[in-house]
Amino acid sequence: MAGEPQDDCLFCKIVAGHIPATIVRETETTVAFRDINPQAPTHVLVIPKAHYKDAAALAAQAPQLAADVLAETQAVADEDKLESYRIVFNTGAGAGQTVWHAHAHVLGGRGMEWPPG
Ligand code: 5GP
Repeated sequence: MAGEPQDDCLFCKIVAGHIPATIVRETETTVAFRDINPQAPTHVLVIPKAHYKDAAALAAQAPQLAADVLAETQAVADEDKLESYRIVFNTGAGAGQTVWHAHAHVLGGRGMEWPPG
């Protein structure tokens, strides 16, 4: 069923507390934690607690939850006092997605270029 936890999903294990993470924020529907391999001084992942394989599935099947995730990216940026920052949803292997549980990267604290690689 859509949104159900998956036994083989790394981020579902973080939600369940079975794998440790540096959690910076938690709401009823979302968790935000620091990326294990940070690409910027602030690199936080915001995920829905429910399992959706990517941002496209999340937006299509649970639009309110997608809005919750987006709102939390703003809250993370506010907490880290980021004046400018980048929100990234890698969607699909070709775009660099490696973990198949929807997540937003919040990156900030350094200058950035466009386009990304
Ligand atoms: P993706 O490449 O799917 O857009 O992003 C997955 C992110 O998850 C990567 O930036 C990677 O560093 C991060 N990541 C992978 N394994 C772990 C982990 O066990 N803990 C944390 N906190 N981040 C992880």
